[in-house]
Amino acid sequence: TTSRSFKLCDLKKNVEHFPLCMKFQYENLEKKHHLKHFSRVQYGLFLKGLGLSLEEALKMWKTEFTKKMSERCFQKEYSYFFKHQYGTVGSKIKYKAQCCDTILEQSVPSGFVHGCPFKHWDASVLSVRLREDDVCDEDVRKILGLKQREQYRAACTTYFQSVCGCKLDDVIDHPVKYYDKSCSSIV
Ligand code: SF4
Repeated sequence: TTSRSFKLCDLKKNVEHFPLCMKFQYENLEKKHHLKHFSRVQYGLFLKGLGLSLEEALKMWKTEFTKKMSERCFQKEYSYFFKHQYGTVGSKIKYKAQCCDTILEQSVPSGFVHGCPFKHWDASVLSVRLREDDVCDEDVRKILGLKQREQYRAACTTYFQSVCGCKLDDVIDHPVKYYDKSCSSIV
């Protein structure tokens, strides 16, 4: 994974390949110019997993956060977090991108946006979003059925197949794998 590279300038055009859990982090960061701790863990480690460098990660978070706070505040309160996430300061742990099971296990209190939409969103909210993403009625029903039976990763797999227009042999188990499969689904 150390050899992969993801450029910040390609972020906008590659968001379409993100799984819904990460698209939602992206959208919230764009909209609110802030993400809470668990979102910074989830989204930050995902981007790191795609190969975004620490320098570019800091640039991205700083650009957004300083739309609502001073640069001094960002440096003081937040830059350490991201350096720590990349293992350059503190305990220097090599944190990896979270897999689906880790994301699914979390609790997501109201007002928080991290987690997995197929588990943590109300069915009605999810269904509105699926229609916005042009998921057909049949797949919306299928996804909501899988959600009800607590088969969240299978629901995500159906979403993938619907938005990418191609079949998957395996059930989605990792957001980075979702991204890679989505990128390679383009002919
Ligand atoms: Fe993200 Fe995994 Fe949930 Fe899909 S199943 S939305 S990749 S956490």
